[in-house]
Amino acid sequence: MASSSSSLTDQVSWRASVLTRHLNQLSISSSSSPSLESSICLEYSSPELSEKINFDIREMRKLMDDHNLEDRDWLFGLMIQSKLFCPRNSGGRVFVSPDYNQSMEQQREMTMKRIEYLLDRGVFNGWLTGKGVEDEMRKFAFLDVVGIFDHSLAIKLGVHFFLWGGAIQFFGTKRHHDKWLKDTENYVVKGCFAMTELGHGSNVRGIETITTYDSNTGEFIINTPCESAQKYWIGGAANHATHTVVFSQLYINGVNQGVHAFIVQIRDADGNVCPNIRIADCGHKIGLNGVDNGRLWFDNVRIPRENLLNSVADVSPDGQYLSAIKDPDQRFAAFLAPLTSGRVTIAVSSIYTSKIGLAIAIRYSLTRRAFSVSPNGPEVLLLDYPSHQRRLLPLLAKTCAMSFGVNYLKRIYLKRTPEANKTIHVLSSAFKAAFTWHNMRTLQATCGGQGLKTENRMGPMKGEFDVQSTFEGDNHVLMQQVSKALIAEYIAAQKRKKPFKGLGLEHMNDPCPVVPAQLTSSILRSTKFQTDIFCLRERDLLTRFAAEVSRLQAQGESKEYAFILSYQLAEDLARAFTERAVLQTFLEAEVAMTAGSLKNVLGLLRSMYALISIEEDLSFLRYGYLSTEHDAAVRKEVTKLCSELRPHALSVVKSYGIPDAFLSPIAFDWVAANSWSSVQQ
Ligand SMILES: Cc1cc2nc3c(=O)[nH]c(=O)nc-3n(C[C@H](O)[C@H](O)[C@H](O)COP(=O)(O)OP(=O)(O)OC[C@H]3O[C@@H](n4cnc5c(N)ncnc54)[C@H](O)[C@@H]3O)c2cc1C
Repeated sequence: MASSSSSLTDQVSWRASVLTRHLNQLSISSSSSPSLESSICLEYSSPELSEKINFDIREMRKLMDDHNLEDRDWLFGLMIQSKLFCPRNSGGRVFVSPDYNQSMEQQREMTMKRIEYLLDRGVFNGWLTGKGVEDEMRKFAFLDVVGIFDHSLAIKLGVHFFLWGGAIQFFGTKRHHDKWLKDTENYVVKGCFAMTELGHGSNVRGIETITTYDSNTGEFIINTPCESAQKYWIGGAANHATHTVVFSQLYINGVNQGVHAFIVQIRDADGNVCPNIRIADCGHKIGLNGVDNGRLWFDNVRIPRENLLNSVADVSPDGQYLSAIKDPDQRFAAFLAPLTSGRVTIAVSSIYTSKIGLAIAIRYSLTRRAFSVSPNGPEVLLLDYPSHQRRLLPLLAKTCAMSFGVNYLKRIYLKRTPEANKTIHVLSSAFKAAFTWHNMRTLQATCGGQGLKTENRMGPMKGEFDVQSTFEGDNHVLMQQVSKALIAEYIAAQKRKKPFKGLGLEHMNDPCPVVPAQLTSSILRSTKFQTDIFCLRERDLLTRFAAEVSRLQAQGESKEYAFILSYQLAEDLARAFTERAVLQTFLEAEVAMTAGSLKNVLGLLRSMYALISIEEDLSFLRYGYLSTEHDAAVRKEVTKLCSELRPHALSVVKSYGIPDAFLSPIAFDWVAANSWSSVQQ
């Protein structure tokens, strides 16, 4: 307590001295008559000179990055050193980022060259052949780092290692592992993942590619029967991939056994397209042009029987279908398992992108001034406008909260056990959807005109990351799956008359929390209130959703259609689940910290996260968890928290662990970066 109150006093006196300086400046400039000299030119002043660092940012970085900090820094260094990463001098600093002005073909080739550079330096060692959790953690850390440089690079690697490589690992058995994993890790083969078709994306079960078995030759025959069955959006297919995993309906003796996965070679080692395969380009996209997305047609392509990825089901040489999983629904679910890693990595990368966007916007808002409050007075820093604080600081707090969320998700994924599979599936779906939507908000226009310059990264990142809400599971569809999983838990608990266990739903076993009549500042900032109100919302929405589905079923609707009709409650519930789960991970991280300035800032960030989530979700008012008076108290508290977080804004973005070179010129001396001398260089 003593340390927190003394640091509060320090902060108050420091803010007072800043204000006094500001007012003195104001009176000097307003008392003197305006002169040309006093206002001829703006000077950039680094925010490090005016902003105080209030807590140990290295400790905060450890919390945020969570693992492999030295490995991350090594890889950042490796990229900065190479001309392939387009180092550019601006305002006396070097920045690296892809040249988005290059043509689509050039961007694709650059992405491949960057991969070759990283391959030569051993970055991918152990990505598929590594055995332990440590190898996987290093791989995840490296993927975070390449994604900070460029989304295309991360996605191109993600398709090769996580989708193609993951399919071999998880759907394949020893014969596939022995044959493909090492060659994939070394890029002797270049893999892609052909699941989506022109006619079917989210609804994978509806795909139309057909595979039959010829017991005379021991081969499968893969066919694209119609145009809507062409494989679409396949990353790597347009230019580079040599092999693909094809998802197809498998017909054995005329019976459709459902979706199965097969290995097919699509190009030879010289890049020539294989016989009976047709490949076309998906063309230019609004972003992610460093990835060569293509379309594939299979004209009765014959592949050996061994190319069926057979961990879930197999076909004997004489053509008998064999599977330990008899239920087609469960068999299909097993085939979607590798998509989990994609959802985990996308959730993580969206948080790193939010960090880049916020670091740039906050640094700019600490050096950019607009308007003065008195004639001839100094102009006000953007971040000193309460309205600008409102735009940026809640997003800053949410990004920190979601960092704890993704760290938790990564850890349970990396140490996965069969019992944790359901939790991983539900959390990765929820976090992938919520965090990618959040990411797009952090790239909003808070940098004025400078935000539109490609070199400042905000604009290209919007185009690059927009796709995150669509691929690896459309966000809306994922959120529906979250609510379906929750209702299944609810029905199971009711049927078995057993307490809730898992998915964080244990709070449903406790008495319903009561919201205090008066919401004072200290109540609003208490972990008890925040936890109670999030749990209250989740339990009520789950009960309502279950009641609504059962009411519709009683009226004769099928269960599936009842879900579809109850979509609004499903969406509200999925959001409530996600925000409660994130809050829980934040509290776990906070509890582990010893008292001090960092813990105090974490408390502010957590309260901001909780209260802005309440303010932004109409459910609290719609379903009456809070009154309009409560809502007004929450709103007021968010404004107070904005002014309290304002002095920490620079420190928080500095703790995000993103090297300056990976930000952009407006985050630093933007006057020098735009000077006449820079034009002449
Ligand atoms: C750049 C890029 C790269 C990709 N890379 C690959 C790859 O390498 N391999 C691969 O196999 N695929 C890849 N995909 C495909 C991607 O996974 C699909 O685009 C995604 O699954 C969505 O499918 P869809 O585009 O057919 O949209 P649809 O499923 O047709 O959805 C269209 C719209 O309808 C809505 N919708 C759909 N179903 C429902 C529902 N039940 N309830 C309410 N709304 C619904 C969705 O929210 C969406 O807005 C990639 C896509 C892109 C854009």
